[in-house]
Amino acid sequence: MRFSKLGESLAQLEKTTKRLEMTATLAQLFKDASADDIAPIIYLTQERLGPAFAPIDFGIGDALAAQALAKATGKDIDAIKKQFKTKGDYGIVAQKLLTNKGNTLTIKQVYDRLMEIATTSGEGTVERKTDLLADLLKKLSGEEARYVLRIPLGQLRLGIGDPTVMEGLSWSVTGDKTLRAPIERAYNVCCDLGAVARIFKSDGVAALEKIQVKVGNPVRMALAERAKSSEDIVTRLGKCAIEPKYDGLRAQIHKNGDDVRIYSRNLEETTAMFPDIVEGVRKQFKAKTAILEGEALAYDSETGDFLPFQITTQRKRKYDIDEFKEKLPLKLLAFDLLYADGKDVTRLGYKERHALLEKFIVKGDTLEVAEQVVTQDAIAIEKFFMEKIEHGLEGIMAKRLDSTYQAGARNFNWIKLKRSYQGHLTDTVDGVIVGYIRGRGMRARFGIGALLVAVYDDKEDKFATVTKIGTGFSDEEWPKLRELLDKIVKEKQPARVDALLVPDVWVEPKYVIEMQADEITRSTIHTAGKTDDELGYALRFPRVIGFIRADKKPEDATTVKEILKMFEKQGKSGEVTNEE
Ligand code: AMP
Repeated sequence: MRFSKLGESLAQLEKTTKRLEMTATLAQLFKDASADDIAPIIYLTQERLGPAFAPIDFGIGDALAAQALAKATGKDIDAIKKQFKTKGDYGIVAQKLLTNKGNTLTIKQVYDRLMEIATTSGEGTVERKTDLLADLLKKLSGEEARYVLRIPLGQLRLGIGDPTVMEGLSWSVTGDKTLRAPIERAYNVCCDLGAVARIFKSDGVAALEKIQVKVGNPVRMALAERAKSSEDIVTRLGKCAIEPKYDGLRAQIHKNGDDVRIYSRNLEETTAMFPDIVEGVRKQFKAKTAILEGEALAYDSETGDFLPFQITTQRKRKYDIDEFKEKLPLKLLAFDLLYADGKDVTRLGYKERHALLEKFIVKGDTLEVAEQVVTQDAIAIEKFFMEKIEHGLEGIMAKRLDSTYQAGARNFNWIKLKRSYQGHLTDTVDGVIVGYIRGRGMRARFGIGALLVAVYDDKEDKFATVTKIGTGFSDEEWPKLRELLDKIVKEKQPARVDALLVPDVWVEPKYVIEMQADEITRSTIHTAGKTDDELGYALRFPRVIGFIRADKKPEDATTVKEILKMFEKQGKSGEVTNEE
Protein backbone atom coordinates (compact mmCIF):
# COMPACT_ATOMS: atom_id res chain seq x y z
CA MET A 1 0.00 0.00 0.00
CA ARG A 2 1.23 3.44 -0.86
CA PHE A 3 2.09 5.83 1.94
CA SER A 4 -0.14 8.43 0.29
CA LYS A 5 -3.13 6.25 1.14
CA LEU A 6 -2.18 6.31 4.82
CA GLY A 7 -1.74 10.08 4.47
CA GLU A 8 -5.28 10.42 3.13
CA SER A 9 -6.68 8.42 6.03
CA LEU A 10 -4.72 10.48 8.52
CA ALA A 11 -6.08 13.65 6.94
CA GLN A 12 -9.59 12.28 7.29
CA LEU A 13 -8.97 11.31 10.89
CA GLU A 14 -7.66 14.76 11.59
CA LYS A 15 -10.98 16.27 10.56
CA THR A 16 -13.11 14.49 13.11
CA THR A 17 -13.29 13.92 16.82
CA LYS A 18 -16.22 11.54 16.55
CA ARG A 19 -15.24 8.07 17.58
CA LEU A 20 -17.56 6.33 15.12
CA GLU A 21 -16.16 8.25 12.19
CA MET A 22 -12.62 7.51 13.30
CA THR A 23 -13.45 3.83 13.62
CA ALA A 24 -14.98 3.75 10.16
CA THR A 25 -11.93 5.46 8.60
CA LEU A 26 -9.57 3.07 10.32
CA ALA A 27 -11.72 0.09 9.34
CA GLN A 28 -11.54 1.03 5.67
CA LEU A 29 -7.78 1.47 5.91
CA PHE A 30 -7.36 -1.92 7.62
CA LYS A 31 -9.62 -3.56 5.06
CA ASP A 32 -7.53 -2.28 2.17
CA ALA A 33 -4.21 -3.06 3.81
CA SER A 34 -2.27 -6.29 3.35
CA ALA A 35 -1.17 -8.42 6.30
CA ASP A 36 2.35 -7.01 5.86
CA ASP A 37 1.19 -3.41 5.92
CA ILE A 38 -1.12 -3.57 8.85
CA ALA A 39 1.41 -3.58 11.70
CA PRO A 40 3.38 -0.57 10.37
CA ILE A 41 0.07 1.25 9.83
CA ILE A 42 -0.96 0.70 13.43
CA TYR A 43 2.42 1.63 14.88
CA LEU A 44 2.72 4.78 12.78
CA THR A 45 -0.81 5.98 13.52
CA GLN A 46 0.10 5.68 17.18
CA GLU A 47 3.37 7.58 16.59
CA ARG A 48 5.54 4.56 17.25
CA LEU A 49 7.75 2.06 15.51
CA GLY A 50 6.69 -0.95 17.54
CA PRO A 51 4.68 -1.98 20.57
CA ALA A 52 4.59 0.44 23.48
CA PHE A 53 6.44 -1.88 25.84
CA ALA A 54 9.60 -1.77 23.72
CA PRO A 55 9.80 1.88 22.76
CA ILE A 56 12.14 2.75 19.92
CA ASP A 57 13.11 6.39 19.94
CA PHE A 58 12.76 7.92 16.48
CA GLY A 59 15.73 10.13 17.25
CA ILE A 60 14.18 12.97 15.26
CA GLY A 61 13.63 16.27 17.02
CA ASP A 62 12.80 19.78 15.84
CA ALA A 63 16.42 20.67 15.10
CA LEU A 64 16.99 17.57 12.99
CA ALA A 65 13.69 18.07 11.16
CA ALA A 66 14.72 21.66 10.28
CA GLN A 67 18.14 20.51 9.06
CA ALA A 68 16.65 17.76 6.93
CA LEU A 69 14.07 20.11 5.44
CA ALA A 70 16.78 22.62 4.58
CA LYS A 71 18.78 19.89 2.92
CA ALA A 72 15.83 18.44 1.03
CA THR A 73 14.60 21.79 -0.28
CA GLY A 74 17.81 23.79 -0.57
CA LYS A 75 16.17 26.52 1.52
CA ASP A 76 17.88 28.55 4.21
CA ILE A 77 17.58 26.92 7.61
CA ASP A 78 16.86 30.19 9.40
CA ALA A 79 13.95 30.87 7.06
CA ILE A 80 12.62 27.38 7.82
CA LYS A 81 12.92 27.95 11.55
CA LYS A 82 11.15 31.26 11.17
CA GLN A 83 8.25 29.58 9.40
CA PHE A 84 8.12 27.03 12.17
CA LYS A 85 7.85 29.84 14.68
CA THR A 86 4.68 31.13 13.06
CA LYS A 87 3.13 27.74 12.22
CA GLY A 88 4.31 25.81 15.29
CA ASP A 89 4.41 22.58 13.30
CA TYR A 90 7.12 21.18 11.02
CA GLY A 91 4.44 19.08 9.29
CA ILE A 92 2.83 22.22 7.91
CA VAL A 93 6.16 23.82 7.08
CA ALA A 94 7.14 20.71 5.10
CA GLN A 95 3.80 20.60 3.30
CA LYS A 96 4.31 24.18 2.13
CA LEU A 97 7.92 23.71 1.08
CA LEU A 98 7.78 20.39 -0.71
CA THR A 99 6.33 20.58 -4.18
CA ASN A 100 7.02 17.09 -5.48
CA LYS A 101 4.23 14.85 -6.70
CA GLY A 102 5.32 12.05 -4.43
CA ASN A 103 3.13 8.97 -4.31
CA THR A 104 6.06 6.69 -5.03
CA LEU A 105 6.80 5.14 -1.66
CA THR A 106 4.92 2.37 0.10
CA ILE A 107 4.05 2.45 3.77
CA LYS A 108 6.61 -0.27 4.36
CA GLN A 109 9.36 1.77 2.67
CA VAL A 110 8.60 4.83 4.79
CA TYR A 111 8.42 2.71 7.93
CA ASP A 112 11.72 1.00 7.12
CA ARG A 113 13.41 4.32 6.53
CA LEU A 114 12.14 5.75 9.80
CA MET A 115 13.39 2.61 11.52
CA GLU A 116 16.77 3.01 9.83
CA ILE A 117 16.97 6.58 11.12
CA ALA A 118 15.98 5.48 14.60
CA THR A 119 18.59 2.75 14.77
CA THR A 120 21.46 4.71 13.30
CA SER A 121 24.11 5.20 15.93
CA GLY A 122 27.82 5.78 16.40
CA GLU A 123 30.03 8.48 15.03
CA GLY A 124 28.42 11.07 12.76
CA THR A 125 24.93 9.93 13.77
CA VAL A 126 23.25 13.31 13.46
CA GLU A 127 24.65 13.88 9.98
CA ARG A 128 23.64 10.45 8.86
CA LYS A 129 20.14 10.73 10.30
CA THR A 130 19.72 14.14 8.67
CA ASP A 131 20.79 12.75 5.31
CA LEU A 132 18.44 9.80 5.57
CA LEU A 133 15.49 12.00 6.50
CA ALA A 134 16.30 14.59 3.80
CA ASP A 135 16.48 11.83 1.23
CA LEU A 136 13.11 10.52 2.37
CA LEU A 137 11.50 13.96 2.28
CA LYS A 138 12.71 14.52 -1.27
CA LYS A 139 10.65 11.57 -2.44
CA LEU A 140 7.44 12.73 -0.78
CA SER A 141 4.63 15.07 -1.69
CA GLY A 142 3.80 17.93 0.64
CA GLU A 143 0.81 16.02 2.07
CA GLU A 144 2.89 12.92 2.67
CA ALA A 145 5.68 14.88 4.31
CA ARG A 146 3.20 16.57 6.61
CA TYR A 147 2.57 13.22 8.26
CA VAL A 148 6.01 11.71 7.91
CA LEU A 149 7.34 14.57 10.04
CA ARG A 150 4.44 14.73 12.45
CA ILE A 151 4.75 11.06 13.36
CA PRO A 152 8.26 11.11 14.86
CA LEU A 153 7.70 14.57 16.33
CA GLY A 154 4.62 13.30 18.18
CA GLN A 155 2.42 15.91 16.47
CA LEU A 156 -0.36 13.82 14.93
CA ARG A 157 -2.75 14.74 17.70
CA LEU A 158 -5.34 12.24 16.53
CA GLY A 159 -6.06 10.59 19.83
CA ILE A 160 -6.30 7.10 18.43
CA GLY A 161 -6.10 4.86 21.42
CA ASP A 162 -5.93 1.09 21.51
CA PRO A 163 -9.72 0.65 21.85
CA THR A 164 -10.37 2.58 18.64
CA VAL A 165 -7.78 0.53 16.78
CA MET A 166 -9.32 -2.71 18.10
CA GLU A 167 -12.77 -1.63 17.10
CA GLY A 168 -11.50 -0.57 13.69
CA LEU A 169 -10.06 -4.05 13.20
CA SER A 170 -13.36 -5.66 14.11
CA TRP A 171 -15.29 -3.28 11.82
CA SER A 172 -12.94 -3.99 8.96
CA VAL A 173 -14.30 -7.54 8.85
CA THR A 174 -17.82 -7.49 10.29
CA GLY A 175 -18.87 -3.85 10.03
CA ASP A 176 -19.47 -3.78 13.78
CA LYS A 177 -17.58 -4.36 17.00
CA THR A 178 -18.44 -8.02 17.50
CA LEU A 179 -14.84 -9.17 17.12
CA ARG A 180 -13.50 -6.67 19.62
CA ALA A 181 -13.54 -9.22 22.47
CA PRO A 182 -11.28 -11.88 20.86
CA ILE A 183 -9.02 -9.13 19.51
CA GLU A 184 -8.75 -7.60 22.95
CA ARG A 185 -8.03 -10.93 24.60
CA ALA A 186 -5.16 -11.48 22.17
CA TYR A 187 -3.89 -7.97 22.79
CA ASN A 188 -4.05 -8.42 26.55
CA VAL A 189 -1.92 -11.52 26.24
CA CYS A 190 0.86 -10.08 24.07
CA CYS A 191 0.48 -6.27 24.35
CA ASP A 192 1.35 -5.83 20.69
CA LEU A 193 -1.53 -4.56 18.56
CA GLY A 194 0.61 -4.69 15.42
CA ALA A 195 1.29 -8.39 15.89
CA VAL A 196 -2.35 -9.11 16.74
CA ALA A 197 -3.55 -7.27 13.62
CA ARG A 198 -1.09 -9.14 11.42
CA ILE A 199 -2.36 -12.53 12.62
CA PHE A 200 -5.98 -11.35 12.43
CA LYS A 201 -5.46 -10.18 8.87
CA SER A 202 -3.57 -13.21 7.61
CA ASP A 203 -5.22 -16.08 9.52
CA GLY A 204 -8.52 -14.74 10.77
CA VAL A 205 -10.04 -14.30 14.17
CA ALA A 206 -9.81 -17.99 15.14
CA ALA A 207 -6.03 -17.79 14.98
CA LEU A 208 -6.04 -15.15 17.73
CA GLU A 209 -7.12 -17.82 20.22
CA LYS A 210 -3.77 -19.49 19.74
CA ILE A 211 -1.76 -16.48 20.86
CA GLN A 212 -0.04 -17.41 24.07
CA VAL A 213 1.91 -15.50 26.64
CA LYS A 214 5.51 -15.17 25.62
CA VAL A 215 8.59 -14.33 27.63
CA GLY A 216 9.61 -10.79 26.65
CA ASN A 217 6.08 -9.61 25.79
CA PRO A 218 4.48 -8.12 28.88
CA VAL A 219 1.01 -9.39 29.68
CA ARG A 220 -1.74 -6.95 30.67
CA MET A 221 -2.14 -7.57 34.32
CA ALA A 222 -5.15 -9.16 35.98
CA LEU A 223 -6.93 -6.77 38.34
CA ALA A 224 -9.19 -7.08 41.33
CA GLU A 225 -12.79 -6.16 42.10
CA ARG A 226 -13.82 -4.86 45.51
CA ALA A 227 -15.63 -6.57 48.33
CA LYS A 228 -17.59 -4.93 51.12
CA SER A 229 -16.67 -7.42 53.80
CA SER A 230 -15.28 -10.85 54.57
CA GLU A 231 -18.78 -12.31 54.28
CA ASP A 232 -19.09 -10.77 50.85
CA ILE A 233 -15.89 -12.57 49.82
CA VAL A 234 -17.15 -15.93 51.06
CA THR A 235 -20.51 -15.44 49.36
CA ARG A 236 -18.82 -14.77 46.06
CA LEU A 237 -15.94 -17.23 46.15
CA GLY A 238 -16.69 -19.88 48.74
CA LYS A 239 -13.42 -21.54 49.61
CA CYS A 240 -10.68 -19.24 48.38
CA ALA A 241 -7.10 -18.18 48.83
CA ILE A 242 -6.55 -15.15 51.04
CA GLU A 243 -3.32 -13.19 50.78
CA PRO A 244 -2.11 -9.95 52.29
CA LYS A 245 -2.53 -6.95 50.03
CA TYR A 246 0.99 -5.61 50.04
CA ASP A 247 1.27 -1.93 49.40
CA GLY A 248 4.18 -1.78 47.00
CA LEU A 249 4.79 -1.88 43.28
CA ARG A 250 3.33 -4.54 41.05
CA ALA A 251 6.04 -6.28 39.09
CA GLN A 252 5.74 -8.69 36.21
CA ILE A 253 8.99 -10.47 35.73
CA HIS A 254 10.12 -12.14 32.55
CA LYS A 255 13.00 -14.56 32.85
CA ASN A 256 14.86 -16.06 29.96
CA GLY A 257 17.88 -17.76 31.44
CA ASP A 258 19.89 -14.96 33.02
CA ASP A 259 18.07 -12.30 31.05
CA VAL A 260 15.55 -10.91 33.53
CA ARG A 261 13.18 -8.06 32.72
CA ILE A 262 10.71 -6.32 34.95
CA TYR A 263 7.53 -4.56 33.85
CA SER A 264 5.42 -2.21 35.91
CA ARG A 265 1.65 -2.15 36.28
CA ASN A 266 1.39 0.08 33.20
CA LEU A 267 3.75 -2.22 31.32
CA GLU A 268 6.75 0.02 31.28
CA GLU A 269 10.06 -1.70 31.59
CA THR A 270 11.58 -0.96 34.99
CA THR A 271 14.39 -3.52 34.98
CA ALA A 272 17.15 -0.97 35.45
CA MET A 273 15.58 0.36 38.65
CA PHE A 274 15.53 -2.94 40.49
CA PRO A 275 18.87 -4.71 40.11
CA ASP A 276 18.34 -6.52 43.43
CA ILE A 277 15.16 -8.15 42.15
CA VAL A 278 16.87 -9.10 38.90
CA GLU A 279 19.63 -10.73 40.93
CA GLY A 280 17.13 -12.39 43.27
CA VAL A 281 15.20 -13.93 40.38
CA ARG A 282 18.39 -15.25 38.82
CA LYS A 283 19.37 -16.88 42.08
CA GLN A 284 16.06 -18.00 43.50
CA PHE A 285 13.77 -18.84 40.61
CA LYS A 286 14.49 -22.29 39.37
CA ALA A 287 12.74 -22.35 36.00
CA LYS A 288 14.82 -21.53 32.97
CA THR A 289 12.11 -19.44 31.38
CA ALA A 290 9.26 -17.87 33.30
CA ILE A 291 6.80 -15.05 33.73
CA LEU A 292 5.90 -14.43 37.34
CA GLU A 293 4.12 -11.65 39.17
CA GLY A 294 4.46 -10.18 42.60
CA GLU A 295 4.61 -7.03 44.64
CA ALA A 296 7.97 -5.35 45.18
CA LEU A 297 8.26 -3.85 48.65
CA ALA A 298 10.93 -2.05 50.62
CA TYR A 299 11.54 -3.50 54.06
CA ASP A 300 13.44 -2.70 57.19
CA SER A 301 16.39 -5.08 57.08
CA GLU A 302 16.71 -5.04 60.88
CA THR A 303 13.13 -5.81 61.87
CA GLY A 304 11.95 -7.38 58.63
CA ASP A 305 8.87 -5.11 58.66
CA PHE A 306 7.55 -3.93 55.32
CA LEU A 307 7.73 -0.20 54.71
CA PRO A 308 4.92 2.00 53.45
CA PHE A 309 4.30 2.60 49.77
CA GLN A 310 5.70 6.14 49.94
CA ILE A 311 9.05 4.66 50.90
CA THR A 312 9.03 1.80 48.38
CA THR A 313 8.23 4.21 45.62
CA GLN A 314 11.50 6.03 46.24
CA ARG A 315 13.13 3.07 44.51
CA LYS A 316 11.49 4.13 41.24
CA ARG A 317 14.38 6.26 40.15
CA LYS A 318 16.74 6.66 37.28
CA TYR A 319 19.74 7.86 39.28
CA ASP A 320 21.61 6.71 42.40
CA ILE A 321 20.17 3.27 41.87
CA ASP A 322 23.01 1.44 43.60
CA GLU A 323 22.93 3.75 46.59
CA PHE A 324 19.17 3.22 47.00
CA LYS A 325 19.53 -0.50 46.51
CA GLU A 326 21.65 -0.55 49.69
CA LYS A 327 19.52 1.96 51.57
CA LEU A 328 16.14 0.51 50.70
CA PRO A 329 16.44 -3.15 49.81
CA LEU A 330 13.41 -4.73 48.18
CA LYS A 331 11.65 -8.02 48.55
CA LEU A 332 9.47 -9.51 45.90
CA LEU A 333 6.35 -11.17 47.28
CA ALA A 334 5.45 -13.45 44.41
CA PHE A 335 1.79 -14.34 43.95
CA ASP A 336 1.29 -15.64 40.43
CA LEU A 337 2.90 -17.58 37.64
CA LEU A 338 1.97 -17.20 33.97
CA TYR A 339 4.66 -19.15 32.21
CA ALA A 340 7.30 -21.64 33.20
CA ASP A 341 9.86 -23.76 31.40
CA GLY A 342 8.42 -23.27 27.96
CA LYS A 343 4.77 -23.57 28.97
CA ASP A 344 1.94 -21.06 29.12
CA VAL A 345 0.23 -21.86 32.42
CA THR A 346 -2.35 -19.07 32.37
CA ARG A 347 -5.12 -21.55 31.65
CA LEU A 348 -4.44 -23.54 34.81
CA GLY A 349 -6.40 -22.72 37.94
CA TYR A 350 -4.93 -20.35 40.52
CA LYS A 351 -4.29 -23.22 42.90
CA GLU A 352 -2.18 -25.11 40.36
CA ARG A 353 -0.31 -22.00 39.27
CA HIS A 354 0.43 -21.18 42.86
CA ALA A 355 1.70 -24.70 43.57
CA LEU A 356 4.09 -24.36 40.63
CA LEU A 357 5.21 -20.96 41.84
CA GLU A 358 6.09 -22.45 45.22
CA LYS A 359 7.95 -25.26 43.54
CA PHE A 360 10.19 -22.95 41.56
CA ILE A 361 11.16 -20.52 44.33
CA VAL A 362 14.05 -21.51 46.55
CA LYS A 363 14.83 -19.80 49.84
CA GLY A 364 16.86 -16.64 49.69
CA ASP A 365 16.97 -12.95 50.53
CA THR A 366 14.77 -11.40 47.88
CA LEU A 367 12.04 -13.68 46.59
CA GLU A 368 9.28 -15.00 48.79
CA VAL A 369 5.95 -16.53 47.99
CA ALA A 370 3.20 -14.25 49.31
CA GLU A 371 1.66 -15.48 52.53
CA GLN A 372 -1.56 -17.37 51.89
CA VAL A 373 -4.36 -19.13 53.72
CA VAL A 374 -7.08 -21.13 52.05
CA THR A 375 -10.41 -20.86 53.82
CA GLN A 376 -14.13 -20.39 53.49
CA ASP A 377 -14.57 -19.03 56.96
CA ALA A 378 -15.53 -15.35 57.11
CA ILE A 379 -14.29 -15.10 60.68
CA ALA A 380 -10.87 -16.44 59.74
CA ILE A 381 -10.77 -13.97 56.86
CA GLU A 382 -11.72 -11.07 59.12
CA LYS A 383 -9.01 -12.07 61.56
CA PHE A 384 -6.41 -12.27 58.82
CA PHE A 385 -7.57 -8.88 57.58
CA MET A 386 -7.30 -7.21 60.99
CA GLU A 387 -3.89 -8.76 61.56
CA LYS A 388 -2.61 -7.34 58.28
CA ILE A 389 -4.06 -3.90 59.00
CA GLU A 390 -2.36 -3.88 62.36
CA HIS A 391 0.91 -4.59 60.61
CA GLY A 392 0.40 -1.56 58.45
CA LEU A 393 -0.66 -3.38 55.28
CA GLU A 394 -3.49 -2.21 53.03
CA GLY A 395 -5.83 -5.12 53.42
CA ILE A 396 -6.24 -8.49 51.79
CA MET A 397 -6.70 -10.10 48.39
CA ALA A 398 -9.00 -13.05 47.92
CA LYS A 399 -8.57 -15.29 44.91
CA ARG A 400 -10.86 -17.81 43.30
CA LEU A 401 -9.06 -21.13 43.49
CA ASP A 402 -9.96 -22.40 40.03
CA SER A 403 -9.60 -19.11 38.14
CA THR A 404 -7.42 -18.92 35.06
CA TYR A 405 -5.11 -15.92 34.66
CA GLN A 406 -7.27 -13.50 32.70
CA ALA A 407 -4.94 -10.94 31.19
CA GLY A 408 -6.19 -7.39 31.56
CA ALA A 409 -9.44 -8.42 33.25
CA ARG A 410 -10.91 -6.87 36.36
CA ASN A 411 -13.42 -9.30 37.80
CA PHE A 412 -14.33 -11.23 40.92
CA ASN A 413 -11.64 -13.87 40.40
CA TRP A 414 -9.57 -11.53 42.52
CA ILE A 415 -11.23 -9.49 45.22
CA LYS A 416 -9.63 -6.81 47.31
CA LEU A 417 -10.75 -5.79 50.74
CA LYS A 418 -9.01 -2.64 51.85
CA ARG A 419 -9.12 -0.61 54.97
CA SER A 420 -10.53 2.83 54.48
CA TYR A 421 -8.33 5.80 54.83
CA GLN A 422 -10.81 8.60 55.24
CA GLY A 423 -12.42 8.91 58.63
CA HIS A 424 -16.12 8.81 57.88
CA LEU A 425 -17.31 8.80 61.45
CA THR A 426 -17.63 12.25 62.83
CA ASP A 427 -18.18 10.99 66.39
CA THR A 428 -15.54 9.28 68.42
CA VAL A 429 -16.39 6.15 70.37
CA ASP A 430 -15.59 5.64 74.04
CA GLY A 431 -14.79 2.00 74.71
CA VAL A 432 -13.85 -0.09 77.70
CA ILE A 433 -10.72 -2.19 77.71
CA VAL A 434 -11.63 -5.81 78.48
CA GLY A 435 -8.40 -7.56 77.58
CA TYR A 436 -5.14 -7.33 75.75
CA ILE A 437 -3.21 -9.24 73.15
CA ARG A 438 0.50 -9.70 73.59
CA GLY A 439 2.62 -7.90 71.05
CA ARG A 440 4.21 -9.42 68.02
CA GLY A 441 7.01 -8.06 65.89
CA MET A 442 8.04 -4.62 67.09
CA ARG A 443 5.65 -4.69 70.05
CA ALA A 444 6.94 -7.99 71.49
CA ARG A 445 9.22 -6.11 73.83
CA PHE A 446 6.24 -4.41 75.48
CA GLY A 447 4.34 -7.66 76.01
CA ILE A 448 1.26 -5.85 74.80
CA GLY A 449 0.35 -5.02 71.23
CA ALA A 450 -3.40 -4.58 70.99
CA LEU A 451 -6.48 -4.17 73.16
CA LEU A 452 -9.84 -5.86 73.05
CA VAL A 453 -12.36 -3.10 73.58
CA ALA A 454 -16.09 -3.16 74.32
CA VAL A 455 -19.01 -0.74 74.36
CA TYR A 456 -21.70 -0.69 77.01
CA ASP A 457 -24.98 -2.54 76.55
CA ASP A 458 -27.16 -0.61 78.98
CA LYS A 459 -30.15 -2.90 78.47
CA GLU A 460 -28.29 -6.03 79.51
CA ASP A 461 -25.74 -4.22 81.65
CA LYS A 462 -22.81 -5.88 79.98
CA PHE A 463 -19.83 -4.98 77.84
CA ALA A 464 -19.94 -6.18 74.25
CA THR A 465 -16.80 -6.10 72.15
CA VAL A 466 -16.62 -3.69 69.26
CA THR A 467 -12.99 -3.70 68.16
CA LYS A 468 -9.43 -4.81 68.54
CA ILE A 469 -7.17 -1.80 68.54
CA GLY A 470 -3.42 -1.45 68.27
CA THR A 471 -2.97 2.00 66.82
CA GLY A 472 -2.60 5.34 68.50
CA PHE A 473 -0.47 4.63 71.58
CA SER A 474 3.15 5.72 71.64
CA ASP A 475 6.11 3.54 72.58
CA GLU A 476 6.12 5.23 75.98
CA GLU A 477 2.40 4.64 76.56
CA TRP A 478 2.32 0.90 75.88
CA PRO A 479 4.43 -0.11 78.93
CA LYS A 480 2.45 2.31 81.11
CA LEU A 481 -0.77 0.79 79.93
CA ARG A 482 0.46 -2.71 80.57
CA GLU A 483 1.42 -1.80 84.12
CA LEU A 484 -2.10 -0.47 84.78
CA LEU A 485 -3.84 -3.43 83.19
CA ASP A 486 -1.71 -6.04 84.91
CA LYS A 487 -3.14 -4.79 88.19
CA ILE A 488 -6.67 -5.74 87.12
CA VAL A 489 -6.02 -9.06 85.36
CA LYS A 490 -8.84 -11.63 85.44
CA GLU A 491 -8.23 -15.36 85.28
CA LYS A 492 -11.34 -15.94 83.23
CA GLN A 493 -13.62 -13.94 80.98
CA PRO A 494 -15.29 -11.45 83.32
CA ALA A 495 -18.99 -12.13 83.83
CA ARG A 496 -20.17 -8.81 82.41
CA VAL A 497 -18.07 -9.17 79.28
CA ASP A 498 -19.73 -10.57 76.19
CA ALA A 499 -17.05 -11.66 73.70
CA LEU A 500 -16.31 -14.22 71.03
CA LEU A 501 -12.71 -13.17 70.61
CA VAL A 502 -10.43 -14.38 73.37
CA PRO A 503 -7.53 -12.07 74.22
CA ASP A 504 -4.27 -13.31 75.72
CA VAL A 505 -5.12 -11.58 78.99
CA TRP A 506 -8.60 -10.68 80.32
CA VAL A 507 -8.93 -7.58 82.47
CA GLU A 508 -11.67 -6.15 84.56
CA PRO A 509 -13.73 -3.63 82.56
CA LYS A 510 -12.41 -0.49 84.14
CA TYR A 511 -10.54 1.80 81.80
CA VAL A 512 -12.18 3.84 79.10
CA ILE A 513 -10.40 4.97 75.97
CA GLU A 514 -11.56 7.30 73.24
CA MET A 515 -11.31 6.03 69.68
CA GLN A 516 -11.65 7.45 66.22
CA ALA A 517 -12.70 5.05 63.47
CA ASP A 518 -13.31 5.22 59.76
CA GLU A 519 -16.68 3.59 59.93
CA ILE A 520 -18.87 1.03 61.59
CA THR A 521 -19.26 -2.28 59.81
CA ARG A 522 -21.25 -5.44 60.40
CA SER A 523 -19.16 -8.09 62.04
CA THR A 524 -19.19 -11.79 62.68
CA ILE A 525 -16.61 -11.61 65.43
CA HIS A 526 -17.71 -8.71 67.63
CA THR A 527 -20.70 -8.94 69.93
CA ALA A 528 -21.91 -5.34 70.08
CA GLY A 529 -25.51 -5.45 68.82
CA LYS A 530 -25.26 -9.13 67.97
CA THR A 531 -28.31 -11.36 68.43
CA ASP A 532 -29.06 -14.94 67.42
CA ASP A 533 -30.14 -13.72 64.00
CA GLU A 534 -28.22 -10.51 63.58
CA LEU A 535 -24.55 -9.81 63.01
CA GLY A 536 -22.70 -7.59 65.44
CA TYR A 537 -21.11 -4.20 64.78
CA ALA A 538 -17.47 -3.27 64.75
CA LEU A 539 -15.21 -0.28 64.28
CA ARG A 540 -13.25 -0.28 61.08
CA PHE A 541 -9.68 0.89 61.41
CA PRO A 542 -9.82 2.38 64.86
CA ARG A 543 -7.11 4.45 66.51
CA VAL A 544 -6.85 5.70 70.08
CA ILE A 545 -7.04 9.39 70.82
CA GLY A 546 -5.15 10.43 73.91
CA PHE A 547 -4.56 7.99 76.74
CA ILE A 548 -7.01 6.67 79.36
CA ARG A 549 -10.11 8.76 79.99
CA ALA A 550 -9.75 8.99 83.76
CA ASP A 551 -12.92 11.07 83.85
CA LYS A 552 -15.12 8.25 82.60
CA LYS A 553 -16.50 5.17 84.26
CA PRO A 554 -17.02 2.03 82.18
CA GLU A 555 -20.77 2.65 82.21
CA ASP A 556 -20.13 6.05 80.69
CA ALA A 557 -18.75 4.41 77.58
CA THR A 558 -20.60 4.66 74.26
CA THR A 559 -23.61 2.36 74.29
CA VAL A 560 -24.61 -0.30 71.81
CA LYS A 561 -27.67 1.81 71.01
CA GLU A 562 -25.46 4.72 70.05
CA ILE A 563 -23.33 2.48 67.86
CA LEU A 564 -26.49 1.38 66.05
CA LYS A 565 -27.46 5.00 65.54
CA MET A 566 -24.05 5.86 64.20
CA PHE A 567 -24.27 2.93 61.81
CA GLU A 568 -27.66 4.08 60.59
CA LYS A 569 -26.49 7.62 60.15
CA GLN A 570 -23.53 6.55 58.12
CA GLY A 571 -25.86 4.33 56.04
CA LYS A 572 -28.08 7.29 55.20
CA SER A 573 -25.15 9.22 53.90
CA GLY A 574 -24.44 6.22 51.71
CA GLU A 575 -21.04 5.57 53.15
CA VAL A 576 -21.26 2.02 54.38
CA THR A 577 -18.08 0.93 52.76
CA ASN A 578 -14.61 -0.13 53.62
CA GLU A 579 -13.06 1.19 50.49
CA GLU A 580 -10.89 4.22 50.13
P1 AMP B 1 -5.57 -1.84 43.48
O1 AMP B 1 -4.35 -1.18 42.90
O2 AMP B 1 -6.08 -1.22 44.72
O3 AMP B 1 -6.62 -2.11 42.43
O4 AMP B 1 -5.12 -3.29 43.94
C1 AMP B 1 -4.51 -4.19 43.07
C2 AMP B 1 -3.00 -4.18 43.31
O5 AMP B 1 -2.68 -4.72 44.57
C3 AMP B 1 -2.27 -5.09 42.36
O6 AMP B 1 -2.05 -4.48 41.12
C4 AMP B 1 -0.98 -5.36 43.08
O7 AMP B 1 -0.03 -4.36 42.77
C5 AMP B 1 -1.34 -5.18 44.54
N1 AMP B 1 -1.22 -6.40 45.34
C6 AMP B 1 -0.72 -6.44 46.59
N2 AMP B 1 -0.76 -7.67 47.10
C7 AMP B 1 -1.30 -8.47 46.16
C8 AMP B 1 -1.62 -9.86 46.10
N3 AMP B 1 -1.39 -10.68 47.13
N4 AMP B 1 -2.18 -10.32 44.97
C9 AMP B 1 -2.43 -9.50 43.93
N5 AMP B 1 -2.15 -8.18 43.92
C10 AMP B 1 -1.59 -7.66 45.03
